[in-house]
Amino acid sequence: MRVYKFGGASVRDADGVRNLREIVAQSSDDLMVVISAMGKTTNALERVMAALAQGDEQKAEQEWLGVFDHHVYVMQALGLQPNVDVRLPLMPAYNTEWSYDQNYDQIVSLGEILSTQIVAVFLLKSGIPTEWWNMPKLLRTDATYREAQVDWQHSAQVIRVGWDRTARPRVVVTQGFIGGTEEGLRTTLGREGSDYTAALLGNFLDAESVTIWKDVPGILNADPRKQADTIKIDQLSYHDAVELAYSGAQVIHPKTIRPLENKKIPLYVKPFGNPLAEGSIICENAQPVTVPVYIWRENQILITMRAKDFAFVLEESLSHIFEIIHRHHLTVSLVQSSAVTISVCVDNNRFVERAINELQDAYLVTWNDNLRLLTIRGTTPEILKKEQENRTILLSQTTRRTARLVITHE
Ligand code: ASP
Ligand code: MG
Repeated sequence: MRVYKFGGASVRDADGVRNLREIVAQSSDDLMVVISAMGKTTNALERVMAALAQGDEQKAEQEWLGVFDHHVYVMQALGLQPNVDVRLPLMPAYNTEWSYDQNYDQIVSLGEILSTQIVAVFLLKSGIPTEWWNMPKLLRTDATYREAQVDWQHSAQVIRVGWDRTARPRVVVTQGFIGGTEEGLRTTLGREGSDYTAALLGNFLDAESVTIWKDVPGILNADPRKQADTIKIDQLSYHDAVELAYSGAQVIHPKTIRPLENKKIPLYVKPFGNPLAEGSIICENAQPVTVPVYIWRENQILITMRAKDFAFVLEESLSHIFEIIHRHHLTVSLVQSSAVTISVCVDNNRFVERAINELQDAYLVTWNDNLRLLTIRGTTPEILKKEQENRTILLSQTTRRTARLVITHE
């Protein structure tokens, strides 16, 4: 069996869903099809959520109608009947007994529930025997809402049993990005988490391969929105893929590689607009990458800690600082230390302020936000010189082959 994953862009409209159908119909293997919310639905549901939390019913209603209308429109364009073929949910209410994050997961997860129901019904009605699976009942997670941790063992067992019972030929359509707690509440695995779901399902079911269908020809050496003349990387090792994802490359979610590497399952990244194209493959024995790879990581904050009494920071403080960073769910993108300071670059998120507050109890803390981190793998002195020109660089770290520059916004 194989796992196919379609992101939001590939199912944003009726043409996208029809294209998905073609790709599924061409497979002679059993398929587990993992799907994201349609287009920018997750962002829209985040706005519904924010409005509800602020008590702005009118704004919430308006955003909800936008989501609702889009799904009605797609269904009609596919010849499906809204509320007959797929029941559309009513606008969810905010439960004041729950935390923001707990509410968030119940509401934002609706995007995937809807997209998968629409796709499953469409496939079924167009002659492909399809089962719809509800991941919140199958992929068991803890209750860390918005960053839920998957219980691999429990989930693998339930999912294997389900798969064995599925009628053949098997096409199962299910949601990426979401799971559920033992108590039956929905959880989400972190934004852009559908790739991770696909990798987990591949691992649990010992898939022959996992394919991520995207709106790019494969894995490119730079983001085509930021750089002209990109080059496709045909093969990538798991190791390089992790480095790339960790540096901020948007191609795959960083958590995707581990479940696949564990079982040596190859990961294909292919263009959904051209299913026969070769795309890129991430696998065990890949050819080394020979082109320089440029990876931008946006919205960074550089935090520098200095000991209050000029003590030697490094020895005593490293583990203390990282414990605080970890506890506040910050993602570190770069670390640099000197005798008396430690600097970390982290993704700027909603937890940063609290972390800085706590760090200030023990250290003199300074920070710069609104920064970008550029990682160049396979760099040369010429490339580095060119990238440094006309830029304000707050920090740079270079090894023989890799350069990392923390840059202010031009
Ligand atoms: N729909 C979710 C998001 O946009 C998950 C995903 O696309 O992978 O974050
Ligand atoms: Mg998405």
